[in-house]
Order: sequence, then structure tokens, then C-alpha cells
Amino acid sequence: MLRTKGFSIRTMVSALVVATVVITLGISLLISYRNEKNSLMTMNFQLNHMYTTKISDTVNELFASMKQNLKYNAAHIAKGGLNRSDLDEQVKLIQQTNPMYKAVVVVDRTGKVISIASETDTGLKGKTIETDGAKQALKERKPLISEPYISAANQLIIMVSHPLWGADGEYLGYVGGTIRLHETNLLNTILGDAAQSGNGTYAYVVSASGALLYHPDKSRIGEHDIVNPIFADMLSGHSGVKRIVNSRGVDMLASYTYMKETGWGVVTQTPTDVILTASKRPILRVALYMAPILVLLLLVIYWLIGKMSEPLTKLSNFASVLLTSKSVRDEVPRIHSWNSEANAMHRAFVLAVGQIRRRFDHLSLEAQTDPLTGLYNRRTMDLCIRTWIAEEIPFVIMVLDLDHFKQVNDTYGHEMGDEVLRFLAANMQAQFEANHICCRYGGEEFVVLLPETGLETAMVYAQNLRTIMEETDSPVGRPVTLSMGIARYPDTAQDAAVLFRDADEALYRAKHLGRNRVETANTAASAHML
Ligand code: GH3
Ligand code: MG
Ligand code: MG
Repeated sequence: MLRTKGFSIRTMVSALVVATVVITLGISLLISYRNEKNSLMTMNFQLNHMYTTKISDTVNELFASMKQNLKYNAAHIAKGGLNRSDLDEQVKLIQQTNPMYKAVVVVDRTGKVISIASETDTGLKGKTIETDGAKQALKERKPLISEPYISAANQLIIMVSHPLWGADGEYLGYVGGTIRLHETNLLNTILGDAAQSGNGTYAYVVSASGALLYHPDKSRIGEHDIVNPIFADMLSGHSGVKRIVNSRGVDMLASYTYMKETGWGVVTQTPTDVILTASKRPILRVALYMAPILVLLLLVIYWLIGKMSEPLTKLSNFASVLLTSKSVRDEVPRIHSWNSEANAMHRAFVLAVGQIRRRFDHLSLEAQTDPLTGLYNRRTMDLCIRTWIAEEIPFVIMVLDLDHFKQVNDTYGHEMGDEVLRFLAANMQAQFEANHICCRYGGEEFVVLLPETGLETAMVYAQNLRTIMEETDSPVGRPVTLSMGIARYPDTAQDAAVLFRDADEALYRAKHLGRNRVETANTAASAHML
């Protein structure tokens, strides 16, 4: 079969189907992934927001009551003056009833510690403290929650304070409760376990100035100047959700809530990666479930396409061998297709091939025969002789020539001469067998080839023909005789040209010996026969 350019229908359609399936599947998986991602992100935002709101409510409530409590105590202390005898007792009571406070302190307007109640700190009483918290409280003279600062006892703390106003409205100092940020305090009790859940979500609290008050990573507590895109919005009193890149460069989904009572903000963050990974999982599972079904489907489609293109493949294979003349007799392949175009093509093919064959037969007949007599021509004779010699098939060659034919032409005209030639041809065809090759060699000379025939048998045929011609009136109204020379392959000669020459010589001898006779080429066999 000839190799042709281009792809087969099967390859092209299969590629098309695979491309369509892959693209469709890809797009639908992508859409599912986006939907999954969006809904997971929304859900995460909602959950985290609920959480920050709950914390914010709790912290607000706590600090409102702490401030209220301090206000009440401040009024009580101020009423009795800073010199009252039960001041220490009073301060101790405040500390014990507010477990959030590590220490409770009363400081006068100069910054001197008048009274202190603490689980650990001692020795501060009577001393002047110059911490940031103390300075701020003395300066602002109003209820305060301080920014984180380092206490006199070298601890990171915040202080909730309330000013002390004397009976005449003069400023006496302040009462403050301190909360240690690094130790167990109510903040981390509230934020507790939930502050850091399994999926990487964590919560933290920032002060009004953006310093970390609480963070699950304790080493970061007190850190300030943090770059986080939500702080500005949150600390100006807003709540919300946002996808951000945090101070450590991690992509995060953040929910934040402002806490009115403290001016702080609480933030809950989940790494975006966690959500993305969670979104991919169901999509991968779907893809995994679909893969075998798809493969099966593609195999079925591949088989179907093969079935559909099979008739065309058969026809195209047939068409390509049709070009080699040997196969022109091959049958057009049978086709039973579901495809109407293939069937139509098959019909057209059968018709076309039939036509080609008829034309081919016609052409080859024309090429093989002599138009005047219908006998084989010289070319066919040559081919026959060559083939038989090549295949070593023994045969007799008979060369015939009409006697005095020139006279016939001269007397009755050329057309009559042609009639006589046809007359001879008809007699030859009647006389010889189907496997004998009767040829018009040229002019009024003829050749007959008799395969697998001995000289004696050939001689019988020759004499019969000669007799018939001698005894039958030709179209000119009288018999026209002929002379013949006979040779045999391989006895006379083994070479085609020599063989023909020998037969021709025999014919010449027949003419010479008086015409209307048959002569055999000079061989041992013929000599013996004669
Ligand atoms: P001989 O017995 O020696 O063969 O005598 P002859 O006249 O047959 O010999 P020659 O070969 O001289 O003459 C052959 C003639 O055959 C010459 C030519 O006019 C004639 N001839 C050849 N081809 C054709 C043909 O196709 N048609 C007709 N009518 N005549 C032909
Ligand atoms: Mg002649
Ligand atoms: Mg002649």
C-alpha cells in the first residue's frame, strides 16, 4: 500500500474528541474549584468574623465592668483621702476581687506610690515610679487603658487606671490595676484554645497604637510598628474581612473587629493556602472518580470511530492498489456501514471501478489486436513468445503467407484484398483451438502459436487450413492459397529471433518449392519426420 500524507480520520476525530473532553473537563473542574474556593473563603470569613465579634463582646463587657469597678473604688478612696488608715486594706481588696490585676496601686499626683497590693511586687511603696504608664495617667488625668509598657518590676504590662479627685475637685493622683501580658491573664483565657485551631487559624489582639497585646506566639507580645493593611481601618473603629498579606509575608484571610471599650482590635486569620488546599481536594476526588469512566468512554469512542472510518480505510486501500494494473481485477471490498456517506462512496466506487475496467478492457483489446482481422497483433505475438520461452513452455510457431496476393490486390482492388485477409482470419479462427494464438504479423503474413503441441499435430492443423483455403472460394470468387513454414521451441531453436527466422526460412522454402504447401524448419526432428 502507498504511504500517503496527512492523518487518518480515526486519528483526527479521536484527537478532536480527546481535546473536547479534556477542555470541557478542565473548564468544569476549574469552575467547580473557583466555586468551592469562594464558598470556603466566604464560610471562613463568616466563622472568623463570628469569632472576633464574640471575643470583642466579651472583652468589651469585661473591661466595661473593670472600669466601672475602678471608678467606684476611685471615688471611695478619694473620699477618704490618700492618708486614710485603711488605704492598704482597701487596695488589697480591689486586687483580690479583680483577679485580672496582677497589682493594684495608688499613686499620688507626684508619682509616689502611696499604696500597693501585689502578689509579688514589694518595696515599691513610698517610691516614685516613672514608667510610661504612670506618666501617662498623671498627665491625662482621666480613665485610661494604657499602651503596653515595661513596669517598674521589669514586666510588660498594661494598666487600667482611674484618676482620684479630692472633695474640692483637686487632683490627688490615680488608682491603677496592672495586667501582665506575658503571664496567664484573662485575655488569653478568653482567646484560649480557640485562638489557635488545627487548620492554622489564630487570633491576636492589638492595642490602639497597633502593639500586640496578645498573640499565640508569646515572643511577639509587645511587638509594635507592625505592617498590616487592616490595622488602620480596624483601629479607626471598623470591623470587616479582608484577604491580606500579613507582616510575615503570608497570604491570609483576616476577620477583624474593633473593641470600643478598650480601643483595641481583635483579628482572626486563616492562611489562604489552607482554604485553597481544601478547595482542591474535592475537585481532585471528582477528577479521580471520572478518570476511569472517561478512559472507558474514550476507548468506546475510539472503537466506534474506527468502525465508522473502516469502510473509508478499505476503499482508500483498494484505491491505492488499483493504481497498479495487476490488481485491476481485484474485487471492490464489501462494505456494510452505518454511515450513509461511506455507503454512497462505496456505490460510486463500484460504478467507477466497473467503468475503469470496461475502458481498460477495451483499451487492452485495442492494444492487443489487429483492427482489420480481429486477430492478435504482432506485439501480442512477441509477448507470448517471450513469456513462453521464459517459462520454458514448448510451442510450435507457424508462419503463413498468402500466395500471389499482390495479384489479388492488383486484380480486384485493395478492398477486396482486405476481404480476403478477413476471410483467411475467419478460417484460421475456425480451424485453430482456443489456446492457439492466431496473429496477423503484418501485411498478408500471419503467425499461429500452438502451446504444448508437437510438430506432427501442428502439421495436421496446418494442412487442414491449407486444404480449406485451397478448396474454398475466397471473396474474390476463387480460392486463394497460402504457404506455411513451421518451427518448434525448443527443438528448432531456443532463441525467439532464431526460431522466427527458421520458420520464415521454411516458409521461403515452401514458396520456392511451388507455394500452397507447408514446410518445416531444418532440424533433426523435422529431417526425421520428412
Ligand atoms: P508471394 O506468393 O511470393 O507471397 O507473392 P505476393 O504477391 O503475395 O508477394 P508480395 O509480398 O510481393 O506481395 C504482398 C502484397 O500484399 C503487397 C501488398 O500490396 C499487399 N498487401 C500488404 N498489406 C496489405 C493489406 O493490408 N491489404 C491489402 N489489400 N493488401 C496488402
Ligand atoms: Mg508476403
Ligand atoms: Mg504473399
